[in-house]
Amino acid sequence: METDAIAPFFEVIEEIKAAGGDVYKFCYQCGKCDAVCPWNNVRNFSIRKIIREAAFGLTEIESEDIWRCTTCGNCPEKCPRGVKQIDLGVSLRKLASTYDVFPASARPARAVRGSLTTEGNPLNEARAKRADWAKDLSVKPFAEGTEVLFFGCCYLSYDPRMKKVAQATARILNKAGVDFGILGSSESCCGESIRKTGAEDIYKGLARENIKAFIDHGVRKIVVSSPHCYETFKNEYSDFMVHFEVVHMTQFLSELIRDGKLELTGTYDRPVTYHDPCYLGRHNDIYDAPREMLQQVPGLTLREMADVRNNSLCCGGGGGRVWMDTPKGERFSDLRLDQARDAGAEVLVTACPYCITMFEDSRLNLEYEDVLEIKDITEIIAEVI
Ligand code: SF4
Ligand code: SF4
Repeated sequence: METDAIAPFFEVIEEIKAAGGDVYKFCYQCGKCDAVCPWNNVRNFSIRKIIREAAFGLTEIESEDIWRCTTCGNCPEKCPRGVKQIDLGVSLRKLASTYDVFPASARPARAVRGSLTTEGNPLNEARAKRADWAKDLSVKPFAEGTEVLFFGCCYLSYDPRMKKVAQATARILNKAGVDFGILGSSESCCGESIRKTGAEDIYKGLARENIKAFIDHGVRKIVVSSPHCYETFKNEYSDFMVHFEVVHMTQFLSELIRDGKLELTGTYDRPVTYHDPCYLGRHNDIYDAPREMLQQVPGLTLREMADVRNNSLCCGGGGGRVWMDTPKGERFSDLRLDQARDAGAEVLVTACPYCITMFEDSRLNLEYEDVLEIKDITEIIAEVI
């Protein structure tokens, strides 16, 4: 290998280590990571090579490649040496951020930092409007003693497509008689994705704001729609020595259905396929709750795609890539829509706002309006209660 002959750049290696990237040392270059990486369905990309270059201090921080990883979690799961590829990738992005070096494709991910800092969301929307989606619905502000905080995430709060998911969810929770409330403008982005772009300070600021809001309002149980909020609240906020009960909406609703608190009285007579979001499935092992829910829906036929459960094909939106432009021909979401069509589904259902955003884009670009519908799982439940 050509890098073998090159003297290591110790200063760069030290910087990578300082940024948390000292995770390459167990790698023995077997290449299993590249074999499972979704990028290799659409173009050449080698996380193995990035690891090798980091070990020698030869990382090119201006390269597009350090921004490609969607943090899908596939290669860490399959690596025989327990290398933390995602942590390495994030450390390289931290380094690039320190030097303010962003290739053109990554600049949109830098641009959202301003809106996250000032308004607490990546969509350049006013904090004061965060609860507007709930106008005209019976949704109360969370107060001490309310049983459940429904934390809808930035996309469900502001994005016109995703607001429909928030509204469907509120209708279901009301129908089941759940005592829930929202924090509205006191909420901030969970910070999961911006952290993966290397903006650790911004993540910490958002996390502190949320934790303060949760504690001030007496929150104990949080039900989230986004697997990214789930990951952060459950697995990352514990770094701040706090603990909240965190439940994903698919777990919460499947329990309501199982306990007879939510009756599915209508029918949904269509073939449906379920996409496992990376942060629900591979990162948090939640594969069964959404499938159990769908199987309870009268009339619904569940068809599985080629890549499911821990081999699910990433939508391409994680790791901050939901904010970046991916050229035509390189979008994993396009491939996923084809897998859904090939499975004989008329509806591609999932449980993540990023996946829906990526899939809706692909549906338009591929002109699949008559081929597939894209739904959040709550939208199907809302149709049959
Ligand atoms: S799978 Fe693990 S050990 Fe093999 S090349 Fe990738 S990071 Fe290295
Ligand atoms: S986490 Fe996923 S996208 Fe990132 S390098 Fe590994 S397999 Fe590729």
